[in-house]
Amino acid sequence: MTMRRRITRLEQVLPPPNPDEALRQKRWEKVWARFFRQLEQAAALLSPEEEQAVSKALANLADDKPFDDDGLRSPYTYWLQDLRNGWSRLPKLAPAAMKELVVAWSSPGVSGGVVCKSCGVEYPHQNYRPVLAACPGCASREWDWAHLVERYHRAWKELDGYVGSRIVGGVT
Ligand SMILES: [Zn+2]
Repeated sequence: MTMRRRITRLEQVLPPPNPDEALRQKRWEKVWARFFRQLEQAAALLSPEEEQAVSKALANLADDKPFDDDGLRSPYTYWLQDLRNGWSRLPKLAPAAMKELVVAWSSPGVSGGVVCKSCGVEYPHQNYRPVLAACPGCASREWDWAHLVERYHRAWKELDGYVGSRIVGGVT
């Protein structure tokens, strides 16, 4: 087998990374870093009771494999997973706004979120009722169900802090 043919075969076995996927991965790394940076800033504002609830939710996150499909999950897993899937967005938030979100997501019985139509921030719901009356990011009261967001065109999908649509090349 000639070297050229060997290389061609290798290329077939190991296709180059999809540029869209590589870009998404980079954006995800940025959002992930922003999440923890803003979480740290928000942590300074927590009351002792809030700190306890947030620590508990974070401990679950650390114990679990965050993106595993079985077992108990930290409520923050839903939030992070939706960010990674391109169902919501994490803009730069003031520490007070991030604190409101972090506390809301540590509420018991949270199993998913709603996404602000205007800025893409996701906040949790309990039994299909949003935990917060308005978006901590921009005060809008209009939201979409997180799992339906990919069907809609929303202006926030053009902004930073958004990882991207799950449907590569799809209409967003
Ligand atoms: Zn908003």
